[in-house]
Amino acid sequence: MADYHILLLGPPGAGKGTQAAKLCEKYDLDHVSTGDALRANKEMETEYGTPRSFMEAGELVPDEVVNEVLAAALEEANGYVLDGYPRNLDQVEYLDEATELDDVIFLDVDRETLVERLTGRRVDPETGENYHVEFDIPEDEAVRERLIQREDDEEDVVRERLEVYEENTEPVIQQYRETGELIEIDGTGTPEEVFDRIIDAIEE
Ligand code: AMP
Repeated sequence: MADYHILLLGPPGAGKGTQAAKLCEKYDLDHVSTGDALRANKEMETEYGTPRSFMEAGELVPDEVVNEVLAAALEEANGYVLDGYPRNLDQVEYLDEATELDDVIFLDVDRETLVERLTGRRVDPETGENYHVEFDIPEDEAVRERLIQREDDEEDVVRERLEVYEENTEPVIQQYRETGELIEIDGTGTPEEVFDRIIDAIEE
């Protein structure tokens, strides 16, 4: 699926990153994540300050900055799975001009599950791999000991991110729903269960 373009939408903690990685492997696509790209450029000086200040507070990084990051990432990608963008209606417009999408997939997860997933998430700083304090503990003791928590996964920031999502990104979901493009997938259960549902929907 060399030129295939998949957009993954959903609240923080819905599993977009996990599912994007699995889709990229299965269909040989590139993973474009504005969150990952911004984390790699946290200290970048912009006229608004660095991305870090917005990210640590759970706020959206200004569109001008994110749009540039997105454009650079899309330029490098052939077929891709995009996650983390668009997060507001202006970004939908920008994306519309920049590229064409084949599938728009929404991962639906209830709020309680999101908070549980996000606050328990830990990252291996060496590989970038995600784990969970309860549901996904690494077998390797060395990995267990070096796990860290993303600053924006602390509970007060998680709540802020979910509010920012409700205010800015739910209208995005609604817009794709109204145009009939949205494929709605139950995002609860194991990563494998969710992945199977996505594959069934794409290949239908
Ligand atoms: P994520 O890894 O997708 O949860 O993104 C982490 C953080 O990066 C978000 O809380 C925002 O601060 C920032 N970010 C990522 N993507 C965007 C976007 N499309 N627009 C604005 N800010 C973004």
